Amino acid sequence: MIYYKTREEIEIIRESALLVSKTLGMLAKEVKPGVTPLHLDTLAEEFIRDHGGVPGFLGLYDFPNSLCTSVNEQVVHGIPNKRPLEEGDIISIDCGVLMNGYYGDHAYTFAVGEVSPEVERLLTVTRESLYKGIEQVQAGNRIGDIASAIQTHCEDHGYGVVRELVGHGLGKAMHEKPEVPNYGRQGTGKRLKEGLVIAIEPMVNLGTRKVKQLRDGWTIVTLDGKPSAHFEHDVAIVDGEPEILSTFDYVEEALATA
Ligand code: MG
Ligand code: MG
Repeated sequence: MIYYKTREEIEIIRESALLVSKTLGMLAKEVKPGVTPLHLDTLAEEFIRDHGGVPGFLGLYDFPNSLCTSVNEQVVHGIPNKRPLEEGDIISIDCGVLMNGYYGDHAYTFAVGEVSPEVERLLTVTRESLYKGIEQVQAGNRIGDIASAIQTHCEDHGYGVVRELVGHGLGKAMHEKPEVPNYGRQGTGKRLKEGLVIAIEPMVNLGTRKVKQLRDGWTIVTLDGKPSAHFEHDVAIVDGEPEILSTFDYVEEALATA
């Protein structure tokens, strides 16, 4: 069952999404060679609590941390560890917040120092695909329109679009209906309606789309060991049109002044 949100609820979700955006903006200044994902996790948890939120991932399905930190061939659900980041790595940071009873859920893949041009391109195209998907979040469209827009853009660039993990509805629960896949056919799936709030999150691999889970029970990695990127926004349908509740502005501001 899909829970469509009132304007009031959408504003509450926006607050949670914005706290995630600000957390990612704070972390953007900290992502550099020598820093450990575990340190980033500690900073994020402090920041979220200082701003009146609760880390949304901590304890969710027994996840042990506040961030998912997925480095290089790790796609998503990486557990923050003590391995220092190295020049040329990429790190996807996925962060959730629970505030006033509603979740925000939002992710960005950061370059650690200089990355290779082919990895830079992967980040650019994955991010572009997120916005291609968001354009389709119109009342009257279907889930498949979002999915197809993302898939087409990524596959046109020769990338593998992960199928095992999908975006989702968002609200009082972190993961609500409907599922929002990053692959699919135009004109198929559930019709989109006013008040829908979804997290759209393309997970895109430089090589094969195939993935596997590590023995830690969480971390998803590419089967061929090539890097993977992940960007996520929270989007609502307001007056029939997409409204992005999260923002990369804080990250971009931080990166521009780094
Ligand atoms: Mg997320
Ligand atoms: Mg999500």
